[in-house]
Amino acid sequence: MRVVVVGAGVAGLAAGYRLLGAAKRMGRPLGLVVLEGEPYPGGHARTIREPGFLVETGPDAFLDRPREPQVRGLVRELGLEARVVEASAASRRRSILLDGRLRRAPDSPLTLLASEALGVAGKLRVLMEPWAHEAPAGVEETVFEFACRRIGAEAAERLVDAAVAGVSAGDSRRLSIEAAFPLLKEMERDHGSLLRAMAARRREGKVRLLAFDGGMAVLVDALRQRLGPALCTSRPARGIDRARGGWEVGLDGGESIAAERVILATPASRAASLVASLDPELSASLGAFRFSGLAMVALAFPSSATPRLDGYGYLVGAAEGLDTLGVVFESSLFHGRAPQGAVLLRVMMGGTRRPEVVALGEPELVERARRELAGPLGIRAKPVRAWVRRWPAAIAQYEVGHRGRVEASRRLLERHPGLDLCGASYDGISFGSAIASGLAAAERALAADHVTEPPISLAHAIVGSTR
Ligand SMILES: Cc1cc2nc3c(=O)[nH]c(=O)nc-3n(C[C@H](O)[C@H](O)[C@H](O)COP(=O)(O)OP(=O)(O)OC[C@H]3O[C@@H](n4cnc5c(N)ncnc54)[C@H](O)[C@@H]3O)c2cc1C
Repeated sequence: MRVVVVGAGVAGLAAGYRLLGAAKRMGRPLGLVVLEGEPYPGGHARTIREPGFLVETGPDAFLDRPREPQVRGLVRELGLEARVVEASAASRRRSILLDGRLRRAPDSPLTLLASEALGVAGKLRVLMEPWAHEAPAGVEETVFEFACRRIGAEAAERLVDAAVAGVSAGDSRRLSIEAAFPLLKEMERDHGSLLRAMAARRREGKVRLLAFDGGMAVLVDALRQRLGPALCTSRPARGIDRARGGWEVGLDGGESIAAERVILATPASRAASLVASLDPELSASLGAFRFSGLAMVALAFPSSATPRLDGYGYLVGAAEGLDTLGVVFESSLFHGRAPQGAVLLRVMMGGTRRPEVVALGEPELVERARRELAGPLGIRAKPVRAWVRRWPAAIAQYEVGHRGRVEASRRLLERHPGLDLCGASYDGISFGSAIASGLAAAERALAADHVTEPPISLAHAIVGSTR
């Protein structure tokens, strides 16, 4: 089988890794090329290491949850278990900036009662959650509508909207509860109440927040190593067309690679341009997926210049009118992110609240991030180091109609046997979901592999032809 994977974010890397491993186990030759447009693999998962500092420009952690065993499985297969680190116990403590002050975000009925984030009526309404109305039949609710129905308008506005902006850089009034937070819908369906479901989940054991001691680069480097010469960086694909009963992936300079199967592991917007001449209808369907932009500004301060930064960090309520969506106390979360005597904060800015922010220059972003930290944290000092990464299409927005768009795209894809899609644009925006979708795409390719003829080329032969 000859396969081209386009895109070496974690989804594409995982897909390539699974294909190579399976071919090896089955003693079957495989011609694999993983094309990456950038000079480095990993996509959004990118770690900067500088003496004393470890700065994640994209994801900094992933949830270890029973519903996504694929990540844990991959970590085990790669022999990386000893490199996994768990977030500090204090990371459970999260705050929300509301009315200019940091307030503890409630995470249980007890902390809800003590929290200053809601008034008395708002708290009582949350506690009435088990008796909430059922979902209206035949309507796809937004996250905001779902939250209003279950826990009331005050909590929806002050807690949920801020959390959604922090997690997905999106707008709770546009995102679909079913597509963006399917777990909440499942909890409602299975337990009839979110509070009851949370209690049941607590009994089942906690969901852990994990990372690697050397950052996400640990996983990316391990996958890169396994792929070896099959991974071709700085090789953007330009288009895909049918050729000789299979596929031809066009590269710069008129070169192309032939394959029986192609897995597009790029964001949907990029996949849309890759299939533009092959199938304009599929291209239009993929082009309808929306993304939000994010600017990540990491700032290091002397610890003497900051208050005690304990906990995960804070989210920002929309009414605060800030560019900042949330701040992560990176050096409190994971050991080894900043040298002794320094702290590291990551400020996430922009999103759908302020889409223009991602286009600002780096000095301006640093200045705005610094200014917006001064109020809630009282930090007046200049940062000793700053890192900025702008992601114009950072996170796919699973807005109302998302599931329908995914289904429509997959139906159109059926016209093109051998062509597949994976990545965080479709079935989950998280790091873990992206990995799971890459592994699943590889499994589909293996399941559909009925090639009986002798393989035309081994990996090195194909890779050689692309260089
Ligand atoms: C700032 C930020 C913070 C985040 N934090 C978290 C977090 O803490 N926890 C969490 O679970 N998730 C987080 N996420 C989400 C997580 O990063 C993503 O779910 C995941 O990394 C997506 O992986 P992917 O492989 O699907 O896509 P991508 O990372 O987008 O990779 C796609 C790859 O395709 C390549 N490509 C595109 N077009 C072409 C082409 N024509 N030819 C060749 N290559 C091409 C790109 O260069 C890229 O490398 C965060 C995201 C961002 C942006």
